[in-house]
Amino acid sequence: TLPHAGGETRPLDHVGDFPAIPYGWAYLDTAATAQKPQAVIDAITRGYATDYATVHRGVYQRSADMTLAYEAARRKVATFLGAGSENEIVFVRGATEGINLVAHSWAGTQLKAGDRILLSELEHHSNIVPWQMVAERVGAEIDVIPLTADHCIDLDAMQAMITPQHKLVALAHVSNVLGSVLDGRRAADIAHSVGAKILLDGCQAVPRMAVDVAALDCDFYVFSGHKLYGPTGIGVLWGRGELLDVMPPYQGGGAMIDRVSFAKTTYAPPPGRFEAGTPHIVGVLGLHAAIDYVESIGLDAIHAHETALVARTRAALGQINSVTLFGPEDSAGIVSFSIKGVHPHDIGTILDEAQVAIRAGHHCAQPLMQVLGVDATARASFGVYNSASDVDALVAGIERVTRIFA
Ligand code: PMP
Repeated sequence: TLPHAGGETRPLDHVGDFPAIPYGWAYLDTAATAQKPQAVIDAITRGYATDYATVHRGVYQRSADMTLAYEAARRKVATFLGAGSENEIVFVRGATEGINLVAHSWAGTQLKAGDRILLSELEHHSNIVPWQMVAERVGAEIDVIPLTADHCIDLDAMQAMITPQHKLVALAHVSNVLGSVLDGRRAADIAHSVGAKILLDGCQAVPRMAVDVAALDCDFYVFSGHKLYGPTGIGVLWGRGELLDVMPPYQGGGAMIDRVSFAKTTYAPPPGRFEAGTPHIVGVLGLHAAIDYVESIGLDAIHAHETALVARTRAALGQINSVTLFGPEDSAGIVSFSIKGVHPHDIGTILDEAQVAIRAGHHCAQPLMQVLGVDATARASFGVYNSASDVDALVAGIERVTRIFA
């Protein structure tokens, strides 16, 4: 496999790289979307200013240069994910579109009535609804893996419930609500033991840990650029070459064809087959800059940094009687909690007055809220710009909430 991020480290105090984070503002909503470093903003500005042109079509130099830059980004993503070939990297709008693409083009053609799909209780709606839509269309059924007592996907239960009727497993590599980290390799081994394919939703994993799809031995992997310090509107679907090869197009249009006539149209090989229309050219350049940025820090260093912030948060909030902490102790960069008698929206509003930005709600995971027995949680999530002082501001804010509602 190709080398990927990790290893090299420098001190993690990167708030100065982020013009959108003023002094004294604790931004703790990176799981929703990450702030952008100047390097990404500069790449986007250059892309729209001096360098702008279309890709894959122009005969003039500027367009040829832009095509080279666009395809260099595809190679960068392939290396970043440990993919065998850049032709396995499909640029999509985000994880949501990546999952819908696999549901439509793989599951929609490979599954038949009576087949089963395996999900888990902690999935984001975008890793539930597309499977429900395709299941309804083809007559497949969905089964749901329960969670362990500390809110991780229970792989022993998965092992016990999977059958040869299961053709596809789709799981979050890291939960967006709880930060629970999946043992993706074990999940893939269990899926493959019955001949099922496995898709991992890497939205929250890719910004927080080194990911290698070859080591995970998964079949599909998706993530969104905007959670990786890159632009919105761009994301990645990685799929094994032999699976992408047999998948029909998701959308028809320009750039995805081989030859078009009214008698018969033939399609381009992957990844072009799945990239109909003029792509998000500058988004791709921004994503490349974002990967360069996280690699300059090192994913291992980022993971260690966020792990320390999670430990500090859980230790402090665990001291407050009325606080319930969800998720495992070793969650990756994300802490969900509730306060007895206080709605999470009120927690969020009071924290906002103290310049602490958290998320409150169901986090697009309503089935998980049911499992946790709540309507909503408060969630703090970390990024490279956060420090212990942000945690301390959060904890002071929570103490204030408990005083107000005492
Ligand atoms: N899966 C997970 C685990 C997520 O956290 C998110 C975003 N909250 C998504 C999928 C969907 O990503 P997007 O909205 O960028 O397509």
